[in-house]
Amino acid sequence: MSEQIEQARADGRSALTEPEGKALAAQFGLVVPQSVLVSPKEDLRAALQGMSPPFVVKVISPDILHKSDAGGVKVGLTDHAAVSEAVQDMAAIPAIASANVEGYLVEEMAPAGQEIVIGGLNDSQFGPMVMVGLGGVFVETLKDVAFRLCPISEVDAHAMLAELKGEAILEGARGSQTVSLDAIVKALLNVGGKDGLMHRYGNDIEELDINPLIVNAESAVAVDARVILSAKPEPEATAQTNDAVPPIERFRPLFEPKTIAVIGASTTSSIIANTFIRRMKAYGYDGDIYPIHPKADKIEGLKAYPDLGQTPKPIDYAYVATRADRIPDMIGAAKGNVKFAQVISSGFREVDEGVALEADLLRQAKAAGCRVIGPNCLGLYSPRGKVTFPVDAPKELGTVGVVTQSGGLGTDIIKRGQWRGLRFSGFLTVGNCADIGPADMLEFYLADPETTVIGFYLEDIGDGRRFFELLRLSETQKPVVILKGGRSELGRMAAASHTGALADNMAAWQALVAQTPCTMVDTVDAFVNALLTLQQLTARPSRPTERVVLFGNGGGTSVLATDFFAERGLKIAPFPEKTRETLEALGLPPGTSVVNPIDTPVGTLQHEEGRVANEILEIVYETAAPDAVVMHLNLAAFVGRGDVDPIDNLFEAAVSIGEKYPGQAHFVLALRSDGSAEIDNKKRDYRQRALDAGIPVFDELPDAAEALAALRHIERRFRG
Ligand code: ADP
Ligand code: MG
Repeated sequence: MSEQIEQARADGRSALTEPEGKALAAQFGLVVPQSVLVSPKEDLRAALQGMSPPFVVKVISPDILHKSDAGGVKVGLTDHAAVSEAVQDMAAIPAIASANVEGYLVEEMAPAGQEIVIGGLNDSQFGPMVMVGLGGVFVETLKDVAFRLCPISEVDAHAMLAELKGEAILEGARGSQTVSLDAIVKALLNVGGKDGLMHRYGNDIEELDINPLIVNAESAVAVDARVILSAKPEPEATAQTNDAVPPIERFRPLFEPKTIAVIGASTTSSIIANTFIRRMKAYGYDGDIYPIHPKADKIEGLKAYPDLGQTPKPIDYAYVATRADRIPDMIGAAKGNVKFAQVISSGFREVDEGVALEADLLRQAKAAGCRVIGPNCLGLYSPRGKVTFPVDAPKELGTVGVVTQSGGLGTDIIKRGQWRGLRFSGFLTVGNCADIGPADMLEFYLADPETTVIGFYLEDIGDGRRFFELLRLSETQKPVVILKGGRSELGRMAAASHTGALADNMAAWQALVAQTPCTMVDTVDAFVNALLTLQQLTARPSRPTERVVLFGNGGGTSVLATDFFAERGLKIAPFPEKTRETLEALGLPPGTSVVNPIDTPVGTLQHEEGRVANEILEIVYETAAPDAVVMHLNLAAFVGRGDVDPIDNLFEAAVSIGEKYPGQAHFVLALRSDGSAEIDNKKRDYRQRALDAGIPVFDELPDAAEALAALRHIERRFRG
């Protein structure tokens, strides 16, 4: 441990003094001013030997946090006499005279420059973080700051600066002094990089403010450093799976259980556990199901057993839905006979009375060698193991792996996703995450060969640090979509520093998104859409999606969409001359516009029964090489316009152009309905046909824009 931190802890202090903080910062390569701590009575001429003016004097006292506010900072002192006078004056200020003063820090003034702030923070879920902002009003009133999780790379450091709204000021905008971005980047790496201060001492340091770092064209000097120590020097022991068994084998009994026990089914009435057994039979589960019941011989036509320890074969997966207070003992009775128990019942940590019960559950499960999922959840849906909790879930094995902390929302996502074309490789509701948490499931899905895209609904990530490290270090790159609940909670209530006060509760999440192939959405529909997009389309890191071609019927619709796409950084830019001329040469019916967006009225789309789309797309792909093509069809406009149904030919055009130019443009479709039963039915049919052709379908163009923006984010985050 650092001697400064050790000393402070030995003294029972919760913060380092400014000289200690600076000494610690200097050990990590930050430049600090040369300084000396003096007392008012000292011979200053001797004390300042070897230092060059101008000087700064600062009061050093554990009672004075904001020195300037107390009159405890004096700058621009030209010699030892001026320093001496400043010290005497300061000592006479009542607020300082009555404080416990350790001395006066005399330091050389840093060369003039711009003031920026670098901060550090130990997030309760994600661990060490680093922050940067411009000094003064930018930080204080505009909260113009950027956070990242440690360790950051040089690229991350540059991205942090680019993220600041006031970044132009650093570049010398409006007469401001140009500063060395490299010097700031270096300082950021000293604090937040791989061997940086926060990465090394993140568990000891609760908050760190370097405020300001004075930067000019040559140097960056940390003239103030404030270090608040964390209450707990050691990281909390987390419920990590240090299981030596690789994740796929570890979780196979869960996703492909050969034997299932069910606790909570009744002989007389039909309650949730009975429903589970019936659904499992209907879904075609072909392993053994053992109802557990203290007295009954048979439940749902199956032979019942008295407890989890007395089944004919060991249990891979136990479904537990009974009175909460009985559950810990029942799991305890398993004694090595159960690999995974999913506790559906509520009444645990989510209510005050259940906190102790959940602790008991965990203790007994551990003693019985059983991993717990839940409590307070709804179940598992795993097509590969023929396990389901929702009714009529799709049987085919898909590629989307999902974990949700809300069971009800889980059912929504499965069912809504099902009709939009999502197919799952696994779907686990994890409730309170007493034992198995999001990071465990991320580890599984990253390793699982069936899974290509991963979705989470999260309220509380638990071991966020492990989640981040898994994403950061994983060899297999898979896109992750997070639907985050509880975004509006208040931030850290008791921050002792600037940095702490500036970190709202989403700062770490935003950093996670900025640093890993992980995108965040805020509605169930956006979640399903993003997953669908990533299920259907392959991320293309070599050329992240940016230039989009819009093609369909509805002029105003495409004008509105062009704005919406542009606001998300997706460009629908007019075609190059060659493309336009070639398209014009097709001699399409009047009313057609062939700049981008391509506006094709119904009559045009019906032209040659829709085969005209082939020719249009061919020209677009050949001469404009877009990153993505969005086709949009206003289905209501087709009604009563002759008996040509061009849809199949339009889809066929989309498929064949994709085959002809593999990997060139992502193709997506917006099928717009007026909401009437007639058009909605048509749309359902068309949607299925498009999905069968591998094309992701959205309800409206803004949905398509958001989905493509999510895809682009993943493409940027993937290593090429
Ligand atoms: P506090 O934040 O506790 O009020 P600081 O140590 O940050 O005190 O000093 C207040 C201000 O004085 C700084 O924001 C900076 O503008 C200026 N200052 C302090 N030390 C120096 C220095 N060594 N060189 C140049 N300016 C300094
Ligand atoms: Mg300061």
